[in-house]
Amino acid sequence: MHNIHIDNSFTDALPQDPITENYTRQVTGTAYSLAQPVEFKKSQVIHVSKLARELGFTDEEVQSLAFKNVVTGREFPDGVAPYAMVYAGHQFGNWAGQLGDGRAINLFEMVHNDQRWALQLKGAGPTPYSRNGDGFAVLRSSIREHLCSEAMHHLGVPTTRSLSLSLSGQQVLRDMLYDGHAAHEKGAIVCRVAPSFIRFGNFELAAAQGNTDVLKQLTDYTIKTFYSQITTTGKEAYLQFFKEVTDRTLEMIIHWQRIGFVHGVMNTDNMSILGLTIDYGPYGWLEPYDHGWTPNTTDRQNKRYRYGAQPEIGLWNLLQLANALYELIDDGPALEKILNSYKENYQTKHLDMMRSKMGLSRPQENDRELIATLEHHLQLHETDMTIFFRELAQVDPQMDTDKAFLHISMAFYDLENLSEPHQWSWLEWLESYLKRLQKEQDESGLDGIAFAKAKQQQMNAVNPKYVFRNYIAQLIIDDADKGDYTLLNEVYRMLQRPYDEQPEFDKWYDLRPDWARTKVGCSMLSCSS
Ligand code: AMP
Ligand code: MG
Repeated sequence: MHNIHIDNSFTDALPQDPITENYTRQVTGTAYSLAQPVEFKKSQVIHVSKLARELGFTDEEVQSLAFKNVVTGREFPDGVAPYAMVYAGHQFGNWAGQLGDGRAINLFEMVHNDQRWALQLKGAGPTPYSRNGDGFAVLRSSIREHLCSEAMHHLGVPTTRSLSLSLSGQQVLRDMLYDGHAAHEKGAIVCRVAPSFIRFGNFELAAAQGNTDVLKQLTDYTIKTFYSQITTTGKEAYLQFFKEVTDRTLEMIIHWQRIGFVHGVMNTDNMSILGLTIDYGPYGWLEPYDHGWTPNTTDRQNKRYRYGAQPEIGLWNLLQLANALYELIDDGPALEKILNSYKENYQTKHLDMMRSKMGLSRPQENDRELIATLEHHLQLHETDMTIFFRELAQVDPQMDTDKAFLHISMAFYDLENLSEPHQWSWLEWLESYLKRLQKEQDESGLDGIAFAKAKQQQMNAVNPKYVFRNYIAQLIIDDADKGDYTLLNEVYRMLQRPYDEQPEFDKWYDLRPDWARTKVGCSMLSCSS
């Protein structure tokens, strides 16, 4: 294998737990504990993503035993000492205390083309932070994490990445619906990759333990390594850091809202300090546009993490981070000001994002109203979010409302039963949209054809055609459980170009089929993974 440039900045900078045995425990004054992956004798790599190339691995190297050994945790380059990070978190709004990498084992950090990458195995066995868990992961959740991380990357959303998906060769016992019906499933290991896996929860733990030294070391390390544009020191630097994390978090959530991604478990231990989408569990994609939707059955009662609440939860989570950093900053009003900037920026960024989804690049006073009415209509009658916006791109000011309606009608789940009043209100909305487009065209100075083309191009660059719908994931999982990875490979190819027209994949550009409406794994997902 090529000479991997290993540079373990996290373990070099932060205090290691002096206990080196791997048993469940509470720790203080430390940032990580050593933990070795289980030696899986029969592990088997089943998919390697294109990320391998970005890390500098050639196709030949990817086929090598050395590569396979690394991504399944069997063998590492010299001097590598795998470890688990410790963190805490607020789960579903409540303080959960110490959590930590319960089934993620960090291998090493490498630098390639000036980019730092940490490699981490998820599902490779227990760590001191496994609590009651076994440290393993099942194939279904690993497929979902592997493919979705890469899909999100290609959608232009900040995210942790996935290098490979492997079978561990072991069976794992899971009670998928938490209803007393535990069953054995195939175990799997994902090799996740990100500049860093530090979460809000790492800071929360140090703060909750009153460990200002560790808190300071962790914050200084994060700034120096990942926010090096911050050149001030002390309180100023910490405030600037918090502001940058706030901006990145908002940026990420605006992307989620744009593509209809619902994370499902926005606990503070699942919030990356780099503003990356992290920990793909019971996530889902909006099919019928519905602000109240969450794919996570564990959250069915309160729907805390529903689509429409994600921006607000982002802010709540940042407030927890502010509390954790308070000890270093000691300036409530300054922190509050930053939190308020999130609210203000959200308003403008969300508006801009919605405008871009509708092909409006020249802001007008009443856009807010046009958008609010649209969101209202979208929720009255089941309308597929992805299809709606993609089809809306074909609507241009030269059309009459009936023709425009024909375009968007593909997005309705039950067109036959669309009531007359609903249809009228759609026609009414389309009329105002067409008028708005005419204004846009007039201001652009383009002729009808050129305007329609430019608008469509611009909209298609922000409204994906192919997203990783839950039912598609489930079909892949059903096949993979039987050892057939054809569909996995096919969908992975599609997900690399989500904004391009790919006629060969048009069967995936369709409404969610009826059978998937209530099927476990498609409309209902639990945290069991
Ligand atoms: P999650 O809901 O996946 O974000 O996990 C919350 C916490 O539970 C994290 O500390 C995980 O490491 C831990 N955890 C989840 N599943 C397992 C498992 N099977 N074994 C050990 N720890 C786990
Ligand atoms: Mg997690």
